[in-house]
Amino acid sequence: MARDFLKNVSDQYDVVVIGSGLAGMTSANILGRAGHRVLLLEQHYKLGGLATWFLRPGGHIFDISLHGFPHGMIKSCRRYWNDDIADRIVQLKNIRFDNPMFSLTTTFNRADFTHLLTTRFGLDPAAVTAFFDTARGMNFYDDQTTTTRDLFERFFPGREDVVRLLMEPITYANGSTLEDPAITYGIVFSNFMSKGVFIYQGGTDDLVSRMKQELEKNNVDIAIRCNVERIHVANDQVQAVEVNGRKIRCRAVISNANLRTTVFDLLGREALSQDFVEQAEAVRLNNSSTQVYMAMKPDVEIDESTGDLLFTSTAPVFRTDLLLSRNITSRTFSFYYPNTRPDKRRRYAVVSSTNANWSDWADLSESEYEASKQELIDSTIDALEKYVPDARAKIDWVEAATPRTFNRYTQHQLGASFGTKFEGLAVSRALPQQIGGMYHAGSVGIIMSGWLGAINYGVIVSNEVDQKLTTENAAIGS
Ligand SMILES: Cc1cc2nc3c(=O)[nH]c(=O)nc-3n(C[C@H](O)[C@H](O)[C@H](O)COP(=O)(O)OP(=O)(O)OC[C@H]3O[C@@H](n4cnc5c(N)ncnc54)[C@H](O)[C@@H]3O)c2cc1C
Repeated sequence: MARDFLKNVSDQYDVVVIGSGLAGMTSANILGRAGHRVLLLEQHYKLGGLATWFLRPGGHIFDISLHGFPHGMIKSCRRYWNDDIADRIVQLKNIRFDNPMFSLTTTFNRADFTHLLTTRFGLDPAAVTAFFDTARGMNFYDDQTTTTRDLFERFFPGREDVVRLLMEPITYANGSTLEDPAITYGIVFSNFMSKGVFIYQGGTDDLVSRMKQELEKNNVDIAIRCNVERIHVANDQVQAVEVNGRKIRCRAVISNANLRTTVFDLLGREALSQDFVEQAEAVRLNNSSTQVYMAMKPDVEIDESTGDLLFTSTAPVFRTDLLLSRNITSRTFSFYYPNTRPDKRRRYAVVSSTNANWSDWADLSESEYEASKQELIDSTIDALEKYVPDARAKIDWVEAATPRTFNRYTQHQLGASFGTKFEGLAVSRALPQQIGGMYHAGSVGIIMSGWLGAINYGVIVSNEVDQKLTTENAAIGS
């Protein structure tokens, strides 16, 4: 008989959270801690969403999206998770760039970037200061017509090398382009520049296991392999979710599934106003990624001076379309030294990530797909050999992920790595006005994606849900 993954789940909750990405788990944790009855439903067999990992023979563990996040993660994790998690966040010191325009190593913070821009790149210190101050002063409600390209042109006209240094890591980190609103760049860039790039020591497996323990401590019911098929609405109010053949009643739903999936598949157009549907239809998905995971043989060591994060490109200039092209010229290598997981076996691994288009991979036949993956692996190892001599002979395990892989594991349409483009934020925020008790928290736009953005968006939305439930409870005297 098929296993019942909802065996211990009640028929009714205050809140059902659909999806256990970082935004979903954070929302569930905050609401559970506040005393609400919370059910977290995840279609996959693991929690974490894109914050995930996998284990391969030989004890090799690969992280998918643990490459770097801003210092703000420490505060968010301390406040909304626990000290145990926050205390494991450590800085990456060696961020390297290597491309035909420049090769350099940086700690990726304002002081070091100012030094580089004024000495190596010969910029006027006043222009550099003004640029940093402008980026740091940007906020959500600023003008959205200025693009990131306009911003660079204003401070560093004609300096493609400077644009490359400032933009390439952010494009990699969240898929943003020179045509996106400048605020989306300014906010994310300034977050990183405040103190540099950080990582979770212990690996994604350790982080997610500690988050699960904290959720359980806060009485959140968790069910995996539970794919929510439908959100039921009546009288413009959320009523229940339908999952694995059961209907679970609730007063609020937070969907961490992709915004477009939430609107068009889980809710359906008929539940929403025409204007809202049109606005949601105009929301563009973000790009996807390819990755190559390479684990070294047990006796192989990589010198730590190779870098923690290495932004490489063979393209003569920086162009967003080149970053997405199947004909890969740019790769970001993440190096995982034994101290990534100090309690586990001494292992060295390298993960290469590149932004990618769904359309380049979606329609390949199975044989074309396998051949393309092999080509991706081979060309990536060739590229790595520049930094890890003889890499091919040192590798114990290698495999690749494509946009199809991301789609399969998270159900994100087009394998989107960073949810939707910026316009998704307004649609996500407007959902509760369409349907009482219906919320979305997950990667939308550039600011609300990435580990920190997703956690912080989960915080914002759970506070709103908490307020709604608390007000209702007070009204009925419970
Ligand atoms: C290759 C790659 C590298 C990255 N590198 C970094 C990095 O270095 N730093 C950084 O900060 N960020 C990085 N990111 C981005 C970061 O991982 C994501 O922005 C963040 O983890 C997204 O969290 P989320 O809450 O939006 O949900 P997601 O992680 O997208 O999770 C959504 C969850 O919902 C579940 N779900 C969907 N539909 C249903 C349903 N119907 N029923 C039940 N469950 C459902 C999915 O299975 C999934 O678990 C990277 C992403 C990728 C792909």
